[in-house]
Amino acid sequence: MKHLYIHVPFCKGKCFYCGFYSVMAETHMVAIYPELPKVESLLRTSEFPELSKEPLETVYMGGGTPAMLGVEGIKSLVNGINEVFPLHAIKEWTVELNPAHVSGELLEALREMGVNRLSIGVQSFCDQTLKRIGRKHSMQEALTAVRLARTHGFENTGVDLIAGLPNVTPAEWSVTLEQALSLDLPHLSVYALSVEEGTPLAQQIGLGKLTIPDDDELLDVLAATEEVLKAAGYERYEISNYAKPGSACEHNVGIWRGNDFLGLGPAASSRIHSRRWTNRSSLSDYMESVLQNTLPPREEEALDPLADALERVTFAMRLKEGFDPYAAASRFPVLAAQADRWEERLEACARQGLVERGGVRWCLTARGREVCDAVIREIF
Ligand code: SF4
Repeated sequence: MKHLYIHVPFCKGKCFYCGFYSVMAETHMVAIYPELPKVESLLRTSEFPELSKEPLETVYMGGGTPAMLGVEGIKSLVNGINEVFPLHAIKEWTVELNPAHVSGELLEALREMGVNRLSIGVQSFCDQTLKRIGRKHSMQEALTAVRLARTHGFENTGVDLIAGLPNVTPAEWSVTLEQALSLDLPHLSVYALSVEEGTPLAQQIGLGKLTIPDDDELLDVLAATEEVLKAAGYERYEISNYAKPGSACEHNVGIWRGNDFLGLGPAASSRIHSRRWTNRSSLSDYMESVLQNTLPPREEEALDPLADALERVTFAMRLKEGFDPYAAASRFPVLAAQADRWEERLEACARQGLVERGGVRWCLTARGREVCDAVIREIF
C-alpha cells in the first residue's frame, strides 16, 4: 500500500458550508486522539499483513484541522504511526492547515518530522466572504500563513479556494485569484461550491438570504478561472486542481490512478484489494472501539473483480493525463472484453466534443469537464 490518509476530526467551529465530518475540539478528546490512529493501523495490519510490506510513498494528514492537536499531539500521533508504517522515506507528506492555526513553532515541528507539503485552506481572499461562510480566519491571516510557510522552507505549499461562494461578484473572484497568483504557489485547488444539505449555508440559501450562481454562471466562473490560471503557468491536471509543472499532489493522483489507500480515523475511507470501507462518522464510536483494541465500526463493501477494476480505472478520466482503454485492460485482464466498446463510446463522445484523443490516451475537453460525471457514466 502506497498511500496513507490520517483524519483529524477536530475544528474550532463549523464553517457554514462544511459537509465533512468534524467535531468541536474538546480538551479530553484532543488529548486522547493522538494515540488512536496507531492502534487502528496495528489492527489493520493484522487484518491485512501485506500492508506493512510495501513502503508508503505518500501520507496526507487532513481534517478537520490537524493543528487542533497542538505540536505535541501531532508529534505523538506521528511517532505512533511511525512504529507501524516507517515514515522516514516518504516521498510526499502533506498536512492540511487552517490559516487561523499556523505558527512558526508548528511549521518548524512539521518540517522536523519530515512533512514536505502543505495545503492551506484559504477559500477566499475577501474578509466579508470569509465571514459570510463562517471561516475563522481573515484574508490577512491567510496571506501571513502562506508567507510563514515559505520562510520555514515549505516551497511545496498550495492553497484551496472555493468558486461560486454566495454573493461573490466576478470582480471579487478576480481579486481572490489575483491574490492567489501573487503568492506564486506551485499548487492551487479550486473547488466548485457544493451546497450540502443540512448546513447553515443550505438553510440561508433556502430562505433566500444568500444567493449563489446558477449552474451556467458557475461553469462560466470555472472556465474563466482556468484561462487565468493557465495564462499564469498552471496546468489543470484534475477537474479541481491546478499545478505548476511537477507539482501535482502525488497522494491524490495515486488514488485517482486506482492505487490502494488506507484511511485512519472516524469517517476515513479505505480501498484495499477488493474491499472498500468508510469508518463510521462518529468520534465517540471510534474512540470506544479503538481504545478496546477492536476495529472501529465501518460501512463495508466487497467488490467483485470487474467492479473493483472498473472503479479503479474510471477516475483516470478526471485527470489531464486521461485514460488508455487498452492499458487499463492489460492492467486488469477482467476488463479485456470492454476495451473495444470503450473505444467506440469514446469516439462517439469525441464527435460530441466531450473528449479528445492524444496518442493512445483519451481525456476530457473543456466542454467534457463541465459534464464530467455524465461523460464517465456514458463511457463506463
Ligand atoms: S475547517 Fe474544514 S473541516 Fe473544519 S468546519 Fe471548516 S471546512 Fe469543515
